[in-house]
Amino acid sequence: MGDYQSAKEEVRRAADIVELVGQFVQLKKAGQNYVGLCPFHSEKDPSFTVSPSRQMFHCFGCKKGGDVFSFWMDYHKVDFPQALKDLADRYQVSLPEKPLTPFEREKIELKDLLFKLNGMAAEYFHRILTRSEKGGPGRTYFDKRSIPKETILEFSLGYAPDEWDGLVRFLQRKKIDLRKAAEAGLLIPRKNGGYYDRFRGRIIFPILNLRQQIVGFGGRVLDDSLPKYVNTPETPIFHKGESLYGLHVAYKPIRDSGRAVVVEGYTDVLALKRHGFDQAVATLGTALTREHVRRLKGYAKEAVVVFDADSAGKAAAIKSLSSFMNEGLSSRVMVLPEGNDPDSYVNKNGLNSFLALLDASLPMFEYFLDLKLSQTGDEVEGQVSALNEIIPVLGELSNASQQSLYVRRLSEKLGVAESAVLEELGKWQKHHSWKGNEGDLRERLSASKAKNIDDFHLLNLFIHYPQTVERLMDLDCKALLSDPVVRGIFDALIEIHGREGKLAPADILERLPGDPARERFREAMLSSPIYPHDMVEQALDEFEAKIQKIKLAESNIKAIQEGDLEGSNKILELKRKREFL
Ligand SMILES: [Zn+2]
Repeated sequence: MGDYQSAKEEVRRAADIVELVGQFVQLKKAGQNYVGLCPFHSEKDPSFTVSPSRQMFHCFGCKKGGDVFSFWMDYHKVDFPQALKDLADRYQVSLPEKPLTPFEREKIELKDLLFKLNGMAAEYFHRILTRSEKGGPGRTYFDKRSIPKETILEFSLGYAPDEWDGLVRFLQRKKIDLRKAAEAGLLIPRKNGGYYDRFRGRIIFPILNLRQQIVGFGGRVLDDSLPKYVNTPETPIFHKGESLYGLHVAYKPIRDSGRAVVVEGYTDVLALKRHGFDQAVATLGTALTREHVRRLKGYAKEAVVVFDADSAGKAAAIKSLSSFMNEGLSSRVMVLPEGNDPDSYVNKNGLNSFLALLDASLPMFEYFLDLKLSQTGDEVEGQVSALNEIIPVLGELSNASQQSLYVRRLSEKLGVAESAVLEELGKWQKHHSWKGNEGDLRERLSASKAKNIDDFHLLNLFIHYPQTVERLMDLDCKALLSDPVVRGIFDALIEIHGREGKLAPADILERLPGDPARERFREAMLSSPIYPHDMVEQALDEFEAKIQKIKLAESNIKAIQEGDLEGSNKILELKRKREFL
């Protein structure tokens, strides 16, 4: 257990939270800290803060926060033992065997096993493609598309031969429990016992997470037969609606350029990559979900959704508009000429032509507007129905200047007065006022701070000058605290201080009772000091005077209640003297 604790400490020393979080969230320097858009809740203004000096993060919006371990756990949705294992691997810290609960062990072991089985299967598919006679059709497929060896290697591409038990036999030779391979989604149970291969006669696209582990597979037919794609079903490690194909390779270029290009197919990603464009990711045959957008938001400043002008994907792209708006990620629409996908287009016309279309992409909202208006005639009825569809989308725009711009554009295009559009918008907004807006939240936050100003100042003083703890305890500073959460924090401080003497804020954080206390403490840790060094003594004196005053007032009330007028007079005398001092 001691070794385990020290491994944890070692990881903490080796890891830099700004570097680690920065791999997944775009961070900007802001004073001593870094800020970015929170990956854990929807927001348009960054309230997600990372402190290099404290080695912690905190979101002022949703209150999630903690150290490198908490970040890893929340971001990758893993538990603590898994986070420790991942980070220890990452920073080359050796880990002692840790006693786990049977449930924890089972969960970790199952996931590890599924990753391992996926890894083995990927190797099998890859070897068939690159070295086996059976891989001929797969090689022809990639040759035709001029996908080079390096790409095949970088994306671990493979081929599943057209047979029922190729993988079954391979796994049997490796003494793998086939039930587990079925849990990984690689095999399918036969009705009369036994198993058969899920992927047959298909090109195999392994899907990797950002920890570079294979979570699942996409399989595509070679011809036009159906179904065109077969994916791994939902498993403990594979969630289709969250995964983006190619992100494990594209996330760095996307972060550097600020732009992600979202395409529909695996081969689109590969074709663009072959032509030197490395910012593309693909959804796995699903519509773009809010989880996708949230994930992209960590790397990209804007996303460009690409689709074919005649495809059904058009409707899906439009559907994703509200996900983008709600997540606050700016989005554009890039339209390819009818009958094209990015794969065929870039191969036919070259990258420059693709980039020109990319430059000509329209903001998604504008595209939506044009599309809706083009579907309505000049008839009043058509206009009304277009308005009814557009107003709710307009109403969700949080950027006021953008909103007024679109109101004007809409009124021009419909040929109605701007005031009429505004009136409609006003009516809609009355019924759908924004809730959970970060701006409101911040106001509430600062209001609550203003109300409990002493709580706020005392906590800040202690965090930035822990040596003041003795004096704060002597002063009985709790008399000044009105917020029960902060009182709880000081109770814990007094308790820990009484037992151990020395207090370092970072050590205390983990030992505080309850999330609200930890949240409040973290926020104080991330705030700048209110008092400069040379004001600390003076601040303590002022707090002392304030406390004395409160105490005198209390004893005065008590004296009066007990009918002790002489005592009360004495107290009042004392009080006056103090005030003159
Ligand atoms: Zn948040």
